[in-house]
Amino acid sequence: MAIKVPLNDLTAQYRSIQGEIQGAISSVIENSAFIGGPAVSRFEADYGKFCGGVHAAGVSNGTDALMLALIALGLKPGDEVIIPAQSFIATLEPIFHLGGKPIIVDCTPDTLNLDPSKIEAALTARTRFIIPVHLYGHPAEMPAINAIARKHGLRVIEDAAQAHGAEIDGVRIGQWGDLATFSFFPGKNLGAYGDAGGVVSRDPALIDEVRRLRNHGREKGAKYEHCRIGFNFRMDALQAAVLAAKLPHMEKWNERRREIARQYTHALGAKVKVPVEKTGYQSVYHIYAIEVLNRGRFMTKMQEQGIQTGIHYPIPMHLHAPVIERLGDQRGKFPVAERSAERVVSLPIYPEMTSIQVDQVIQATLESLE
Ligand SMILES: *Cc1c(COP(=O)(O)O)cnc(C)c1O
Repeated sequence: MAIKVPLNDLTAQYRSIQGEIQGAISSVIENSAFIGGPAVSRFEADYGKFCGGVHAAGVSNGTDALMLALIALGLKPGDEVIIPAQSFIATLEPIFHLGGKPIIVDCTPDTLNLDPSKIEAALTARTRFIIPVHLYGHPAEMPAINAIARKHGLRVIEDAAQAHGAEIDGVRIGQWGDLATFSFFPGKNLGAYGDAGGVVSRDPALIDEVRRLRNHGREKGAKYEHCRIGFNFRMDALQAAVLAAKLPHMEKWNERRREIARQYTHALGAKVKVPVEKTGYQSVYHIYAIEVLNRGRFMTKMQEQGIQTGIHYPIPMHLHAPVIERLGDQRGKFPVAERSAERVVSLPIYPEMTSIQVDQVIQATLESLE
């Protein structure tokens, strides 16, 4: 059966803003400043405002953003880093690369975010960081996480790759941790036309450090002097221009995602476990994941009706082969993450979905649940 509703439709979004994108791309090419430069500075200023008035550094992607955040905050070999059991593997890769040790903690059953009530039992004398992930666009419980971090002298990095514009009590994601990292991978809520990422903070000194590290350890304006052993983790100007052209649409796009989510929840909530939005929390629904008992059968039935579905993510953090190799077999230790990894299935959600497509997804889901 032909696809009636894809999981995401980047072409539909491009068509809706084609002129703006073409103009932005042409101006970068005409100015021939392809790496860093005014397009990146402009996007950084715009994105900092979008996050509620923080400092922002554009970088190469969301994984490198996490690496830079950990280095800027001084992660040393042997340091332990608390991370949730359900996320994309990029949340833990930089920790291993820097000689740190990820300490996995289970998720809450409602949002599948890091469970604050399980953090303190996982702390040791070597714990230095907590990396909560705002999974699916729903913020992690930052007030509780920050309280634990303050009590034990830990630094907090928000992995906000899925949560551009999400809020807790009206305060945007990106303002809660010491640093927050974003991915602008094409399929994220704010997506570039290639790889891109960002690091934000209320502390300008931390963002200056990220800017040095991303550019071979150069001080701003320096050419030959290198004050750090850094990286080439810079943002392309073409990506920055695309992102700056898309950013003015973000509030409207996130609101449309929230509207689709409300319709799904209203139609499906009595039949199946749907995402919840905690009181005071505003999700931006990067993913709308339900939990079903027979996922394989459900996905096949959806496909037969022309509806694409996905899984985010079928393997929890501790069960990836290279993680088992390094941390040992922790199967059974994080039952919430393990159970949800077997059940979660993502329905199509993107701002350009038509109301007909929303209805098609609802109808197909109800039928496939039978
Ligand atoms: C996408 C993602 C990343 C990695 O971002 P990239 O830009 O692909 O490197 C990190 N963490 C989470 C939770 C993600 O969803």
